[in-house]
Amino acid sequence: MSLTGKLLIGQQTIPGDREIIQGINPATDALLEPAYAGGSAEHVEQACALAWAAFDRYRETALEARAEFIETIAHEIEALGDELIDRAMAETGLPRPRLLGERGRTCQQLRLFARTVRAGEWLDVRVDSAQPQRQPLPRSDLRQRQIALGPVAVFGASNFPLAFSVAGGDTASALAAGCPVIVKAHGAHPGTSELVGRAVARAVKACGLPEGVFSLLYGSGREVGIALVSDPRIKAVGFTGSRSGGLALIKAAQARPEPIPVYAEMSSINPVLLFPAALRNRSQALAEGFVSSLTLGAGQFCTNPGLVIALKGPALDTFIGAAAELIQRSPAQTMLTPGIFNAYESSVNALAENPRARLAAVGQRGTAPNQGQAHIFVADAADFLADHALQAEAFGAASLVVQCAGHEEVREVLEHLEGQLTATLHLDDEDLDQARSLLPTLERKAGRLLVNGWPTGVEVCDAMVHGGPFPATSDPRTTSVGTAAIQRFLRPVCYQDFPDALLPTALKQANPLALRRLLDGQREA
Ligand code: NAP
Repeated sequence: MSLTGKLLIGQQTIPGDREIIQGINPATDALLEPAYAGGSAEHVEQACALAWAAFDRYRETALEARAEFIETIAHEIEALGDELIDRAMAETGLPRPRLLGERGRTCQQLRLFARTVRAGEWLDVRVDSAQPQRQPLPRSDLRQRQIALGPVAVFGASNFPLAFSVAGGDTASALAAGCPVIVKAHGAHPGTSELVGRAVARAVKACGLPEGVFSLLYGSGREVGIALVSDPRIKAVGFTGSRSGGLALIKAAQARPEPIPVYAEMSSINPVLLFPAALRNRSQALAEGFVSSLTLGAGQFCTNPGLVIALKGPALDTFIGAAAELIQRSPAQTMLTPGIFNAYESSVNALAENPRARLAAVGQRGTAPNQGQAHIFVADAADFLADHALQAEAFGAASLVVQCAGHEEVREVLEHLEGQLTATLHLDDEDLDQARSLLPTLERKAGRLLVNGWPTGVEVCDAMVHGGPFPATSDPRTTSVGTAAIQRFLRPVCYQDFPDALLPTALKQANPLALRRLLDGQREA
């Protein structure tokens, strides 16, 4: 399929008229054809008008029809075959196995949302039957279901060109909820975005849905992105990226006459706690696990282990020595974009120049462009506590080991941390009491707590939480990965004393969708 370099507004491909965006192969710095002229406020207007026109029909699609649509998207993405993988490799520098895995994850995620839609639990139907004889006042018949919020603006992320981009988790969960989606493509992978965007548009057509269910815009975040977030027909935003980008979108969303929610996933350094017995018993294995998690994908994961916390002493020295040796041998890796490479270089240079941190090891230098080298730094807890800059996210394979004088200092360091996506505990049986005493703090700080594993690798499933307090995300009540992500794009509506003929299907007395309702306080079997 030849790439058009055009915007996709409903079923139409439309040329942009603003600044050119062009993919760059980060491994060579070569420009990739075609050029994508960015969209303008006028294109945002067209896409929003279509999305709004599609909304009432799309949100009432039968569960089966919506599930089939989402499955058709997965099928269309798979049908792109190697063309998609080759283009994504060229635009991101990510290796083929990683992209094959990411495509599998993207399609599995879509199918999981299709299953969720079919099951209908997300409608969360509650019925409180009328009690006309109740004293002193009769009770009305009250029925609640969840409905879609409205058209959603999704900002594709740079670091997952498939799984967190055009048809990634935000789009899948919004479509599952019944929301039309307008994607603002990430400028780092415009060709990959077009291929996937056209796959989604084909699915819209094949399923006979209104064309405004999906549009794909290119352009500058400051122009197209802000226009999108500011449009009154957009009712929620999904974003993964930098803290500054997320905050800019939150500000725009809050400045609207009708403010809307922005579900932004921003920055996290994902603390890893090495408890004393675990560190004593298996420092070498811990160092190996840590370095392979840290260097995975050139460290460009939101769950990268950017902070290690442990008690100062010989066991920690052994761990640092072993990790340093592995880091020194680790090859440089191509980073996703020249911008991300430059940002990473500034972050590690700032750490290297910070007198409160010491560079323990640096990875091998590369010769090609945009080669990120892994780094480990070490700081004493007192210095970490004294300098907030030491907990800034360095997006790449860089981590800081914080040495604490005692258990209470570990707690102090944890209390001092900003909100996180994950917190990891490495422990043996003898460490359980100490770990238990830190759990209340860790629960307040992070969205996912894991034991004796590594935070990179986020399972897409029902129980996953990929979220956490600010700045990990802008809304700690929810998740951007897993089926619970659908809840971000829903709101409850209550129907009081409606005749059965006027009730939505999900709420009818005969329960034609066979939902497990909360009926007069009892969950149905
Ligand atoms: P980004 O700069 O935040 O950009 C993400 C999206 O937001 C792009 O579409 C961008 O559009 C838009 N955007 C950014 N700033 C904006 C603003 N002020 N107003 C409106 N829209 C705005 O993220 P990135 O390009 O992926 O990477 C940059 C840095 O973000 C990385 O170096 C890293 O530090 C961080 N990052 C973190 C994670 C994470 O998971 N923690 C993931 C990815 C990136 P334009 O590009 O068109 O402006």
